[in-house]
Amino acid sequence: MTLEGTNTYLYGSDPCAVIDPGSDDQDHLEAIRAAAGERGGIGLVLLTHSHGDHTAGADLLGAEVILPGEGEVHAGLRVLATPGHAEDHVCFLSNDRVCFSGDLVLGLGSTIVPPGGNSLAAFMGSLALLQAEEIELIAPGHGPWITDPAAKLAEYVEHRQMRERRLLAALGEGERSRAQLLATVWDDIPIELLPMAAMAMEAHLEKLEGEGRLPEDLEP
Ligand SMILES: [Zn+2]
Repeated sequence: MTLEGTNTYLYGSDPCAVIDPGSDDQDHLEAIRAAAGERGGIGLVLLTHSHGDHTAGADLLGAEVILPGEGEVHAGLRVLATPGHAEDHVCFLSNDRVCFSGDLVLGLGSTIVPPGGNSLAAFMGSLALLQAEEIELIAPGHGPWITDPAAKLAEYVEHRQMRERRLLAALGEGERSRAQLLATVWDDIPIELLPMAAMAMEAHLEKLEGEGRLPEDLEP
């Protein structure tokens, strides 16, 4: 989801690194080139994950493109593997405590964690990783900067834990129908967002199953 477009960041100078170039729109790419020109050009293009709304313009900037792995350091940015929203998702941490968070944490709304590969358990682990870092500012892939990272991370954790508590409560009361579980646990969701909520629920069910906490007689 692009919301109101993907945020592109330039980091450092002589040359700078471009984080998540986003769309391949010519005007957008020209704006990146112009801004990078004032910083001594583009040395490197860094990606937070492989989704098209973050990567489409990457190969058009004439610099090496890297989607790095855990523990690597590029352009002075430390790489933290943060799977969940995407399996290959990473965050970049600067020495002055800025976190470029891609889609792990968004400036607006909640991030999507699609089911598959126990993604929600990975996502919760990724949030915990960030909570263990000293971060003063989160620069997300979409939406405005997050100036109170600890509060936002706690909110993200609590939101998923709230759904899990409610899901476990409904299961505990004997509910086994997926449609009923969705209606009960995601009862605050506008109807047009229910397909997304159904995906979120599958990710939750997968996590519970991985933890041995899912009843076996759940209806398909
Ligand atoms: Zn994404």
